[in-house]
Amino acid sequence: MTRICAAILLGTMLAITASAPAFADASGIVGADEEFHDAVAGVAAVARNAALPAEQVKDAADRAFGEPNAVKIQFKAQLRGWDFVKPAPDSPLTISNALQDARARLFERGLVLSGPLDGALAAGDKLNSADRVHFAPKGMMSPYEAGVFFYKDNDPDPGRIMINPNILDMASDADKEIDAEMLKAARTTAWIAAEATLVHESAHALAKAWNQLHPTKVIDGEVFAFGLEREFLRSIDPHGEGLATLISVAQLHQKSHPSNTATLCYQLSSMLGNLWRTDGKAETIKSSIVVPAGYTENKSVL
Ligand SMILES: [Zn+2]
Repeated sequence: MTRICAAILLGTMLAITASAPAFADASGIVGADEEFHDAVAGVAAVARNAALPAEQVKDAADRAFGEPNAVKIQFKAQLRGWDFVKPAPDSPLTISNALQDARARLFERGLVLSGPLDGALAAGDKLNSADRVHFAPKGMMSPYEAGVFFYKDNDPDPGRIMINPNILDMASDADKEIDAEMLKAARTTAWIAAEATLVHESAHALAKAWNQLHPTKVIDGEVFAFGLEREFLRSIDPHGEGLATLISVAQLHQKSHPSNTATLCYQLSSMLGNLWRTDGKAETIKSSIVVPAGYTENKSVL
């Protein structure tokens, strides 16, 4: 039997937003958490002000995301604003390029990866080498799904991954209405989202390889995958300044020059920010990310 693990793209997998603490509503601009929006805007303002000390940028980001980061990395005083988030490479967004860039972002931070995150990246590379990771054809995936992992229960088949092609659109410059800053934010968000989603789906592939992906334990499987996705986001963006900058740029552009690209960029960066700022405990990821997204124990069974 083929089974699916789907990852969220826009804060909720199904249209069951009534009780979900999603940041963005359908228009993508009014969130349920105004305090967070203000804090994010504050981070971007501080990060863009070269007269302010770098420590203040870090502190503002820590406050915005509600919790000082447990990952101790020396703060680089020369980094300001946009510099907090490495821009997307000039190359086209492909699966191979995204996997490579994910490693480059981690390498740049000089981190020793946890065994599971390292294992998930290796699992993603292995599946990709076997031509088992692709952007899905248009219309095949729900707009709410960032990625899916297909696998067969009790079968040596290692599974395959599909990523939502809407992420690809955001990385292109198809939307001529947007300016250079919005385009940069959209491309960077698209790459980071593709990379984070690849980590998530690769975590399912790793669990499958370990014989620990159980169709009746969907929530446990998602907690593991979102946990590694969060570890990836925190590792490449230790104080959240990068995501704060992306969220804020999209929010400002959406207000001044509304566009589909700004809306999607805002929703996607906010969703990643939402995961970033959980405390990483299984119970928190379950209650604040997995359950509100609509996962239930039998959801993956087709
Ligand atoms: Zn998943």
